[in-house]
Amino acid sequence: MTTVESSLSLSLDRLAQAAARPAENVEALKTIVARVHSRLKVQENGGNGPTCLKNAREKKNLVDMLFYKGKCNKICQDYIATCNQKDQLFILKRNSDVHTRMDTLSCLVSSEKMALDYLVRVIEHCRDPPLVGSVCALLHDALSPSNKGDLRNTVIQTCLSLNAAEVILRTLKALSAEGLAVIDPCIHPAYQVLAKLASKDPKLAVKARLVGGVKLTHQLLQAHMKNCVPLLPLLMVTKYLAKNSTNQVMLGKDGCVATLVSILSSVPKTHWAKIKFIMETLALLTKAKSNVIRLVRETGLQRVLSILDAWEKIERRHQVKVIKGILGTLSHMCDSKHGRKAVVALNGVEITQRFIQSCPADKKFDNNLANATNVFLKCISKGELPVSSSWGAFTFQVPNREGSETSSDRSREATPGVDVDSSDEEAEEEIEDEEEDFELSQDFKGIDLASDYCPQKPRMEELVKLAHLFPELFNFRIASGTRFKEVAVPIRRGALNDVIPESHNERYIRASDCTRSIINFVKVAYPDMVGARGPSHLEELYEKDRRVCRNKAIATVERVLHPEVYMERVVYDLDYLLESEHSRHLITPSSNTSRSLGNWDEKRVGKRDASVTHLNFESRFESGNLRRVIQASNTEYDLILNADVNSSHHHQWFYFEVSNMEPHTPYVFNIINNEKPNSEFNYGMKPVMFSVCEAMKGRGAWVRTGVDICYHKNHYSRIPKSHDNVRFKKSVNKCYYTATFTVTFPHAYDVCYLAYHYPYTYTQLQAYLNKHDSIERASDIFYSNQSLCHTLNGNPVPLLTVTTKENVKEKEVIFLTARVHPGESNASWVMEGILDFLLTDTAASRLLLQNFIFKIVPMLNPEGVIHGNQRCGLTDEDLNRRWRAPSPSLHPTIYGAKSLLEYLRSISKQKVRVFCDLHGHSRQKNVFMYGCSRMQSWWLGDKEFLDHPDFMLLPRLAQSCMATFSLRDCHFQIERTRESTARVAVWRQFEIPMSYTMEASTCGCDQGPYKNYHLSPKQLQESGEGFCVSLSYLISTPEALNSRLRLNSDRLECHMRVVAERSLGDFTQEVAFWSGDLDDDLDTDDDLDLDLYGPV
Ligand SMILES: [Zn+2]
Repeated sequence: MTTVESSLSLSLDRLAQAAARPAENVEALKTIVARVHSRLKVQENGGNGPTCLKNAREKKNLVDMLFYKGKCNKICQDYIATCNQKDQLFILKRNSDVHTRMDTLSCLVSSEKMALDYLVRVIEHCRDPPLVGSVCALLHDALSPSNKGDLRNTVIQTCLSLNAAEVILRTLKALSAEGLAVIDPCIHPAYQVLAKLASKDPKLAVKARLVGGVKLTHQLLQAHMKNCVPLLPLLMVTKYLAKNSTNQVMLGKDGCVATLVSILSSVPKTHWAKIKFIMETLALLTKAKSNVIRLVRETGLQRVLSILDAWEKIERRHQVKVIKGILGTLSHMCDSKHGRKAVVALNGVEITQRFIQSCPADKKFDNNLANATNVFLKCISKGELPVSSSWGAFTFQVPNREGSETSSDRSREATPGVDVDSSDEEAEEEIEDEEEDFELSQDFKGIDLASDYCPQKPRMEELVKLAHLFPELFNFRIASGTRFKEVAVPIRRGALNDVIPESHNERYIRASDCTRSIINFVKVAYPDMVGARGPSHLEELYEKDRRVCRNKAIATVERVLHPEVYMERVVYDLDYLLESEHSRHLITPSSNTSRSLGNWDEKRVGKRDASVTHLNFESRFESGNLRRVIQASNTEYDLILNADVNSSHHHQWFYFEVSNMEPHTPYVFNIINNEKPNSEFNYGMKPVMFSVCEAMKGRGAWVRTGVDICYHKNHYSRIPKSHDNVRFKKSVNKCYYTATFTVTFPHAYDVCYLAYHYPYTYTQLQAYLNKHDSIERASDIFYSNQSLCHTLNGNPVPLLTVTTKENVKEKEVIFLTARVHPGESNASWVMEGILDFLLTDTAASRLLLQNFIFKIVPMLNPEGVIHGNQRCGLTDEDLNRRWRAPSPSLHPTIYGAKSLLEYLRSISKQKVRVFCDLHGHSRQKNVFMYGCSRMQSWWLGDKEFLDHPDFMLLPRLAQSCMATFSLRDCHFQIERTRESTARVAVWRQFEIPMSYTMEASTCGCDQGPYKNYHLSPKQLQESGEGFCVSLSYLISTPEALNSRLRLNSDRLECHMRVVAERSLGDFTQEVAFWSGDLDDDLDTDDDLDLDLYGPV
């Protein structure tokens, strides 16, 4: 042991002794702390550096790095030899300083010495401000970013585990009881340490409040307003405290807004770091409406705006953050009427606009530009969407709602123009399949699952009537004369007897004759008729060009400022078309829509419509969605989507025909009434296009298309019309989003189709099943296509049963459903992959069918699919939020599917091994599943029992069987808001441990062999086949199963870690986050990033 080390070791031993009774050993402690600290003092990299290195920061870093590693090796020695004598001395001195410092740090954090524990104990128990100050100063140097590497990490983690920040605040609070001035000697170092720890301790804002640290910090801020030294750390800590919403209100009441405004006016104009923290804190405080009023009253807004007005003068390295703080503040101001008025009155709109126009093109300013555009859009008077009603163009008279246990609530909710008590504000929030919060189901208000849980069950006499839907249990006879039979899909024996097999086109047209719709369609879409799929090659994701988003943001502002430049000519109007054929008004289920539809696109190709000077549009076909088109310029069109039937929202899915295009012309399409705040259009997704001309040349396929793709906020507001549902009124301040893309069509005067995703219509499913109905099968295979029930508009809902004919009564059941959400056509493509696998006689499919009975409902929401809805059926209800207690009259498909599960449980007593509901996901990549883990349930009652060992089994198998699958994206939480989804309701009510939702991205993959490629029907079908392969491992021997699972054990371990971290909560996540990224500035928050076009 060297003398240096031994004397340090001695000091630390003395520290341990003295810290046992700190109050009695103040002087001794001071000496010890000073001695240790002197070894830790950070050598500033000031002007005394060696001449040869002066302009070579990188070389210095290289040298530092070599020294830190503790060995001055050959390269280093050679390097030193090239320096002059003065530099050599400097380097050697530095080398020894660094060594001393690192050795000291190692001793401090060594678990044996527990030095940091003793130091924190000294702060906690001594009542001597100068001693507290010197301990804090020592800690501050130990936390210095110039201590690169793991040691500093360890110091920070140890401080956090010792709760050092809270201890410091508690001590300061106690000492200041005798007057604020008492703690003057230690304020600066104490707040320096607090500032360092605050960014790493997400709970500090709350802990500080509990020990009186929030008020204290504000008092100190007031007292030291003009005291340059401690002001910066004080401001920094204030910012972190202001992140908590309770603290925001509290600080506001204490006058913190006035304090900050006053500091802002007194602080020298060059102290940009301080100004930065003031702005960032104001941006947080103004999240509370009361503080918006205070800021207006304190006349702080002028100063804030004047800084933005002269933003070029801000010191370069603080520019982005100061502007970010200002824009965050302005944005919060604009959320209230009062604040918006003040911003407008002080020329905030012009100043923001000037900033937008002068904003540098540098990437780091992209968020500033987005936020500024956002502020601008919030300020200007909002335009209403140019459409007659935000209520959708299609309405349907919902039959009497009797029979539903929540009928009184529901009938009011789903009837246009009728008031409802709008307690489900969340419905207006982000809606996303399973992953985002949707509505907190009315059914669950105040329900304690333990005592009140009594799901509605069909009565026994009702259940026995379902026997005909289980032909496999009754000698494979498909019963006739049931109430389903009379309206079941007609079996088309005629086709079977024909010599020439029926073509897809004929089969599709014939099937479409049987599809009932509530409006009169005018055609069958060409791609559906010919059974279009994707191309044979993979298609890359769109590489986002940030300049596109910049330009779109600037253009959005320009367009508001100069509307006169735009044409604003309506070129397609669905409402008018429906009205003019007198079909606007209610069409009851009995109406006859059985006239035969066809397609004449091939005859139209190449012919110019000379009567108009614009593109022509059409959406009156199955799954079509486009309500109105407004031509903005010769080549730019604003498109408005139709809402779901009987609804005023859920705009996302689109599918329309476009024709009369000029050659080689890029056309800009802006879909201007999207509701979701972000979209995969910002992360690589392209829309799909089909060209009839290409199809006639033998290249008919849906292809990904478009450039200049961007999804951003626009200036239209969602203001309700007088006859709109009142729950909508809550969204007065909400805006719409534009999905924009530019398409150059492959041929002039072609007929093309554009869609959100590869369409898959109800008729397409029927045509597919008709084909399979007529196929001769091996005698031991049983396949039946029956009608589960009828939809509200009288369309039959197919129920398929597939198995082999032996031992049926002993077999377990695999129950699969899909397409409850009509806008998720990808689910149908995956389902088709599954059906292809099961209905093609191979050894692999036989193995599955020998072991399982497959009960499949491939389309749970035909009405939504037929009418081009995004989310609902005909009743403006999300059917995947009705599984807990579906109504037989309003949700017949869900009620029917659940009744089958009940039949299996109580009558045929067959075990359901797997339940899986297929969905499409519009905000995530890959294919993944959600399952149910008791340990991750919102309800404590679930945690009383251990998880079933199989709850994760299928996703684990899928990971090894599907190229598109990502275990990392799976989760197993049971959220309160998901109780009425298929996954959770089936898990809970039927006690099926392997109950899943499987999601397939509408975009593509970010991992695996398809990384950075779109998913097309081919990959989606492949995923369905892979799903079946995963199922087949359920029947393999335990050894085979285990070896299969071992294949991906590495990935699994990684996943388990993620799951464990998630369940440990925020704190762990935060630690995991920063441990990798310490040298980044303390300031890593991006919570002020208001989203115009997503994180850049
Ligand atoms: Zn979904």
